[in-house]
Amino acid sequence: MSISLNLNKISNEIPKDVLLVAVSKTKSISDIQIAYNSGQLHFGENQIQELTTKENKLPKNIKWHMIGHLQRNKVKYIASFIYMIQSVDSLKLLKEINKQAIKNKRNINVLIQVDISEDSTKFGFSFKEINQLLLIEKFKEFQNVSIKGLMGMASFTSNEKLIRKEFNNLNDLYKNFKNKYSFEYLSMGMSSDYKIAIKCNSNIIRLGSNIFGKRN
Ligand SMILES: *Cc1c(COP(=O)(O)O)cnc(C)c1O
Repeated sequence: MSISLNLNKISNEIPKDVLLVAVSKTKSISDIQIAYNSGQLHFGENQIQELTTKENKLPKNIKWHMIGHLQRNKVKYIASFIYMIQSVDSLKLLKEINKQAIKNKRNINVLIQVDISEDSTKFGFSFKEINQLLLIEKFKEFQNVSIKGLMGMASFTSNEKLIRKEFNNLNDLYKNFKNKYSFEYLSMGMSSDYKIAIKCNSNIIRLGSNIFGKRN
């Protein structure tokens, strides 16, 4: 199927209050342009170089999401335009994002990434760390950063029960701190597991391959 048909089909399937981020990493400018032309505005990337190149060449009203591990010294390259950084995995990174947001006289939306999976390769705060940090309200120091919620990736497995358990754990954490921090977003779910994620309360899904086709 074509990119626009895939997008249409998925958009029609998912609840209206779920935000679809089209993950365009490794995909061409023209593929992104096709998705944009069919109405898609939110795109996700995980490499700074690729993100800045694409941002430069594509329409300015695209809302770019950074979804991959971000090194502190690279925040400055995206601070002028990034809509949301979903992959905040340390306090030091959060500090740097705030600093660059102030420099650029803007506010940057972020999600805190939580390591919910059994795979040890995933980035993010552990449940223990994030619970402690949210309890002491350290996050509220950052005046030019809006902490909009939490993001997580489930284990890469066909075991649906495990995936559901991991998503439910993150949703529990989200609900615990939702009011205190005015959280709006719980970002969970990729091409293989977004249907489970939506059932577990996710309202941002990040889909790459089932919109654009397999990546090489
Ligand atoms: C690549 C990626 C996705 C999209 O993966 P698909 O399986 O292609 O949908 C979602 N989230 C993150 C953090 C990613 O790196």
